[in-house]
Amino acid sequence: MMTFGEVRCAHALQTWNRVNGPTLSTDTSHARIARITSSLSTVMVESKDELISLVTQVRIGHGYFGEYYAHFKIPERSDCPCGTEIQIREHILYDCPLFNDARHTLYSTAPDGHIGSLLGIKKGIEGLASFLKFTNAFRKRPEDDEVQ
Ligand SMILES: [Zn+2]
Repeated sequence: MMTFGEVRCAHALQTWNRVNGPTLSTDTSHARIARITSSLSTVMVESKDELISLVTQVRIGHGYFGEYYAHFKIPERSDCPCGTEIQIREHILYDCPLFNDARHTLYSTAPDGHIGSLLGIKKGIEGLASFLKFTNAFRKRPEDDEVQ
């Protein structure tokens, strides 16, 4: 069964391919992400490899966020620090007030707001990488270590 995010992504990909031809790819290879993020000049994360890893985690939906914890029954908090009950990927990218100041990095590169554009085309992935550079989104929360 597909998650809500997977359904949104698949729908956006089908729509894009119907309108523009099959130009989007779901390729999440390390080499492809490395090529895209190598054009970024300032990286505020620990290393380029860390940024590549984060971008890949967000694209495939496996990482440090509540939806992933809940789906795989990982004993970590599945709520968002903003108070939202379940921290899904789309909440972080589109809605979470904690990241309002950095959200422009996403919309400037994927102005249509489609998750398929954000996660599937070069310009969208560059915006995602910028968002990840300037926020602590999709990182393990320090208090997560205290959850039993
Ligand atoms: Zn939130």
